Amino acid sequence: MAKQMNIVNAHDWDFFNQEERPIIIGGPCSAESEEQVFATAKQLKENGVNVFRAGIWKPRTHPNTFEGVGSEGLPWLQRIQKELGMKVSTEVAGARHIEEALKAGVDLFWVGARTSANPFLMQEIADALKGVDIPVLVKNPVNPDIELWLGALERLNQAGLTRLGIILRGFTPFEKMRYRNNPQWQLFIDIRQRYPDMLAICDPSHMAGKREYIAEISQKALDLGFDGLMIESHICPEVAFSDKEQQLTPVDMRAMLDSMVVRHSGTSEDESLNDMRMLIDVLDDSLLDILRQRMVVARKIGEYKKSHNIAVLQQGRWDKILEKVVRKADDAGLDRHFIEEVFKAIHQTSIDCQTEIMLRE
Ligand code: PEP
Ligand code: MN
Repeated sequence: MAKQMNIVNAHDWDFFNQEERPIIIGGPCSAESEEQVFATAKQLKENGVNVFRAGIWKPRTHPNTFEGVGSEGLPWLQRIQKELGMKVSTEVAGARHIEEALKAGVDLFWVGARTSANPFLMQEIADALKGVDIPVLVKNPVNPDIELWLGALERLNQAGLTRLGIILRGFTPFEKMRYRNNPQWQLFIDIRQRYPDMLAICDPSHMAGKREYIAEISQKALDLGFDGLMIESHICPEVAFSDKEQQLTPVDMRAMLDSMVVRHSGTSEDESLNDMRMLIDVLDDSLLDILRQRMVVARKIGEYKKSHNIAVLQQGRWDKILEKVVRKADDAGLDRHFIEEVFKAIHQTSIDCQTEIMLRE
């Protein structure tokens, strides 16, 4: 069993402005040129953003794409600190990045979703940060494995880092969906329950993948009680070297943030009722998404049955499914009659859909 981590609440970090809620970390996906980062940072600062982000080393899915300017970009971040008084942050994925970024005086690091999924790299990062007191935010791993995510944080904590936070940026979806990455908010809720003091930031940009979804995701994150947002912002998104479809200009980002409703805390009883209701909403969304995915598969099976002249109803198969779910329901402590009713309704809808496919044309 993992040891409980010792986490310091971000209110005591002496890092973010105390009254700032939500905390905003803004900046381009990638640092591309001194002009681009400086112009973006300047406009962000004018629009009330105090912590700048920019990827110096970029983990790209495909080779032969822009993989970041590398350490050449670090002095650009120093200029932003000096001339604009902003704090600066970048992504680190190994000891060399850390060494160079620390030398340049970067104020905060984040660990990307492809790195937090790799315990070797997380250990290397933790070892390189031993004895260094810097805030580190860990993005969720690409797969929805809460233990892997917490394990990454535990390695940092064991190296002595206590100013730790999480960034929920969503998970690689099982199949194409509205968003680039599936939010799976319940992982955030689980971590919040286990570590109420852990800073939680949502990254609506990588979740959305497209500008138009960033506002709705940000609002949801604030409703769920996230402390802040990390948002990709580029002075001219159309020409960005990476993630151009999800970046907002600093001015559009400000307008988006101004349209957000920030929830005020009520009494503690209201709060826990609210939290539980929000958890129910999140779980209902997951149920709906699973049902949608199941119907997609049922439809594909319908097409297959039609083209291979197989009858829609396969009684033997259905009896087995029902038997299996009832057994699993018993194991899970769920009422077996309730589960039978639910699965009969699901099965009937699949059969109706497949029958419709058979009758087409
Ligand atoms: C990023 O923040 O630019 C990034 C690469 O994010 P992620 O690790 O979430 O893909
Ligand atoms: Mn990006």
